[in-house]
Amino acid sequence: MTNSVAASHAKGKFATDKIFGASGAAVKATAEHGKDKVVNATIGAIMDDNEKLACIPTVEKVLRGMSINDMIAYAPISGLPAYLDATINLAFADQRPDAYFNSVATAGGTGVIHHTIWNYSEIGDKVLTSDWYWGPYSVLCKEALRELDTYQLFDEHQNFNIKSFETKVNELLSKQNSLVIIINTPAHNPTGFSLTDDDWKKVLDVCKVQAKNPEKKITVLIDIAYIDYAGEKNESRKFLKQFSNLPANILGILAFSMSKGYTMYGQRTGAMIGISSDKNVIKEFAEINQYTSRATWSNINRGAMTLLTTIDQDKTLLVQFEKERDGYYQLIRERADIFMSEAKACGLNMLPYRAGFFISIPAADSDAVCTKLHDDLIFAVPLKMGVRIAVCAVPSAKIKGMAEKVLNAMNFV
Ligand code: PLP
Repeated sequence: MTNSVAASHAKGKFATDKIFGASGAAVKATAEHGKDKVVNATIGAIMDDNEKLACIPTVEKVLRGMSINDMIAYAPISGLPAYLDATINLAFADQRPDAYFNSVATAGGTGVIHHTIWNYSEIGDKVLTSDWYWGPYSVLCKEALRELDTYQLFDEHQNFNIKSFETKVNELLSKQNSLVIIINTPAHNPTGFSLTDDDWKKVLDVCKVQAKNPEKKITVLIDIAYIDYAGEKNESRKFLKQFSNLPANILGILAFSMSKGYTMYGQRTGAMIGISSDKNVIKEFAEINQYTSRATWSNINRGAMTLLTTIDQDKTLLVQFEKERDGYYQLIRERADIFMSEAKACGLNMLPYRAGFFISIPAADSDAVCTKLHDDLIFAVPLKMGVRIAVCAVPSAKIKGMAEKVLNAMNFV
């Protein structure tokens, strides 16, 4: 009798998603108690003040005005050339480093992470990120027969823990020659933290010391999924200039995504942008990642690529679009500000939020805290190290009073 036909490497794979679990509980409570009584802080997407999924108006207008052929035709595997230019323009704004670049279209930011792990670490290697991290990083590593390892994101003063970062980078590179480091900044999921320009200098200094050994190859993957909700465009991108003239064995990769920045979550469109001082590294980058796209999903969503190109090429449209998106940034800011000032007033310890969709509260038993919050019809996501609250999804009126309820739940468990 056989009850499994899966190959040995596939046996036992089961993606438990805490986020979808928590969100299911919120939906059930809404059906039972009504929308007005329930606080659903589980959703990682912008909900307007009527709790409807927000779409940036210019995005909707351009999408609805597109020809059917733009939507249904195949696209080149590496992406439409004008789209690739647009991703570079929009990802860097005026902060292009002095380096060679290339962009390869991917199925969202997730596609970038997938290709980076596959093409820039060896099978069996450890990939490094911070201890507060977006869960799918680990799934992506395991699926590719790699393993995720972590450093501590914060020191005792809730600043970036450069010591822990340095120790881990040095430890891993003493055992393996390739190292992929994933840094989700600015507006990190789940904490809302952003590295400062000075933190970035220190991060790159650690990498440069290791890169003196020509056998070591370091790939710094910057997950910029939330960069468009992190403040002024050029200010939040200034750190990218530090990727100028790096040693050839340090490769920078930006994970560009249209999911949040363009409210196109389900359209699965992104791009990986390689940054290197070495022309050949960039040539190889374009070739090997295009190959992996061919072998993974072939080409991606042509309509979404054309939409980005349309916005990028029409400066009036771009200005209008950025104004609308800034409105959503301000909305999220206002919600986060209410939570933060109330947390301070009642003495709730939250992690240092700078910007973005989420706030996190450290908790030893986050499951128990979230379950207790259900008594107040508040639904948040229990992570390994704490509770994640999606300020992107909760109107200001419902944020009021929430910090104290979280504190009470923490004290109860
Ligand atoms: N990185 C982080 C930290 C995210 O939270 C997300 C989406 O939730 C992504 C990357 C990838 O998004 P997508 O694949 O939809 O572009």
